[in-house]
Amino acid sequence: MMQIVCASANPDKVAEIQAIWAGSAIELLPRPITVPAVVEDHTTLIGNARLKARAICDATGLPSVADDTGLFVDTLDGAPGVDTAYFAGQHASYAENRAKMLHLLSGLPLHERTATFRTVALLVSPDGHELAVSGQCRGFIALTEVAGIGFGYDPIFIPAEADGRTFSQMTEHEKHELSHRGRAFRALLTALSG
Ligand code: IMP
Repeated sequence: MMQIVCASANPDKVAEIQAIWAGSAIELLPRPITVPAVVEDHTTLIGNARLKARAICDATGLPSVADDTGLFVDTLDGAPGVDTAYFAGQHASYAENRAKMLHLLSGLPLHERTATFRTVALLVSPDGHELAVSGQCRGFIALTEVAGIGFGYDPIFIPAEADGRTFSQMTEHEKHELSHRGRAFRALLTALSG
């Protein structure tokens, strides 16, 4: 088993990465709680992923993988993008971020609510070597919230390749099959085994 430390402090993301990598030859170790939170002040997904992965790799001496994800909404010129976690403010909850999104898009028909989730997954090794991959999922911002499972914007994101359900209405397996994170972390597995 290859041990990789997960640089993400977001338990929802960690659970997804663990599920996506289940059955692989990688043991995903949790981020040590003693390492202070990294300030994600870069202007790109890969820049923020690098900040997180390097900090954890330096602290543990083990390879570390970071996930940085953004939701890019076409009619908002790509916002919130790298600021997706902080859309409604520095300490905004998932629900507040969704409410702001629905408010900004109110009145727009579904076909004008196109958006893309993008994930960069970056692996940093103690020798400084980096491996970066990305995954994306096109879709629409729903007209209203649909309760269910998942986190973040899942209750308002309808992937284009599915049947009109939001991520929050899908099983975890269905979401990972077509999600930005599923694609990025499967690509990383392939790159590692190649
Ligand atoms: P970051 O990658 O830590 O900067 O966070 C990105 C933000 O995007 C998270 O706080 C969530 O609100 C949102 N997000 C990331 N991945 C997903 C997902 O798979 N579904 C829904 N929302 C997500």
